[in-house]
Amino acid sequence: MQENMISATLENAESLNGQLNAFLSIEHEHAAARMSETRDPAGNLEGIPIAVKDNICTKGMRTSCGSRILEPYLAQYDATAVKRLNDAGAVIIGKTNMDEFAMGSSNENSAFGTVKNPWNPECVPGGSSGGSAAAVASGIVDVALGSETGGSVRQPASFCGVVGLKPTYGRVSRYGLVAFASSLDQIGVFGRAATDVARVLRVIAGRDERDSTTADVEVPDYSKTLEDGFAGSRIGVPRALFGAGLDEEVRKSVERGIEIYRELGAEIVDIELPYSKYSIAVYYIIATAEASSNLARFDGVRYGFRAENAHELREMYMKTREEGFGAEVKRRIMLGTYVLSSGYYDAYYAKAQKVRTLLKRDFESAFEKCDAIVTPTAPSTAFKIGERSDDPLAMYLSDIYTASANLAGIPGISVPCGLSAEGMPIGLQLLGNHWSEGLLLSLAAAFERVNPIAQNPGIHV
Ligand code: GLN
Repeated sequence: MQENMISATLENAESLNGQLNAFLSIEHEHAAARMSETRDPAGNLEGIPIAVKDNICTKGMRTSCGSRILEPYLAQYDATAVKRLNDAGAVIIGKTNMDEFAMGSSNENSAFGTVKNPWNPECVPGGSSGGSAAAVASGIVDVALGSETGGSVRQPASFCGVVGLKPTYGRVSRYGLVAFASSLDQIGVFGRAATDVARVLRVIAGRDERDSTTADVEVPDYSKTLEDGFAGSRIGVPRALFGAGLDEEVRKSVERGIEIYRELGAEIVDIELPYSKYSIAVYYIIATAEASSNLARFDGVRYGFRAENAHELREMYMKTREEGFGAEVKRRIMLGTYVLSSGYYDAYYAKAQKVRTLLKRDFESAFEKCDAIVTPTAPSTAFKIGERSDDPLAMYLSDIYTASANLAGIPGISVPCGLSAEGMPIGLQLLGNHWSEGLLLSLAAAFERVNPIAQNPGIHV
């Protein structure tokens, strides 16, 4: 029975991938080997097919991060999240396409071609985890892993009409997640519904001695707490964020979502997040600074690709990085090197760290007044392929509602909320205090029960 399900999933992935380009590899051999192993029939995810973003290490499989520089690289070990999925019986069926090194909001920065949005192949799926989002939205898998640094799970979830969760920083081990910006990175989960996300999160979450930033905080059984509901919860609305730059259809849909929560018994309160207007600026200083340091290891010596025709070491480094990295990655390395350089460090990097503290305090005071915060996930629905690719600043604004959660280390979830007149999905974002994934998932599940788009994420290819 489960063998059939896995082979059907692999076939489906093969037949849809020509249109979607959601997978960089479809792992027939690995899946077959897993199916022939004797596994614990009581495993929490026994026989469940799962797709994994290509920046998460999977032993013996491709782990290219959407980059030429790692194209020939096969991971030497499993990420902790992957090991835990395997131990629970899940079967990895493929590695998903992504913006190179998770830098992007549209998947157009992948070195291996853009992913198509399953709802409309002329539109982007969002990014950087667009392959995982498309794999779930097209019905190939019910669950997939992605990664978040500034919104890369929530924003593509919103564009593709699926659920996407970014956990609290330290909830899920980053061991084996190829680093982009280590103080912001976190593995996240996509699902067709909150209950799928709950099952996977429970398996991958928790302290890992291989990642000293994971916290020793108990992992609840999220599938059970999902049913607890949220009676008496207060939901904060930062009204000031519902103005300029927000697409009118998205605003209306999220406002309706807020009314649904009121009808479901939540108390709606107004809150303020005065520093959130600086989140994009702060994010693009801190994330690029950390990236410039993390990506220094790709030098042609240790991993993957090495340029030919270099006659001495320095030339080999330069040629490898010149040929191996794409334009956006180079832009970020240059920006990051600049903000860390002597003479500019205080003006940019040190200043950004101070504003990051203020952003955190914004949330601390907001969570004195409410238990969760609601905003749109992204300022628009999925845009057309090519529409923003020449304008990095317009692209960066895609994360205006999401990046502050990474900066503050708090969890957030995107839930399908409505459809635009053109039939594209709209996402509603819920943010919670540290370790409140359980509450966020119950809020998402309650919303799904009354909201048709969430009940019916369909195949549109
Ligand atoms: N879109 C953001 C960026 O380009 C966030 C990426 C992410 O979360 N990995 O950096």
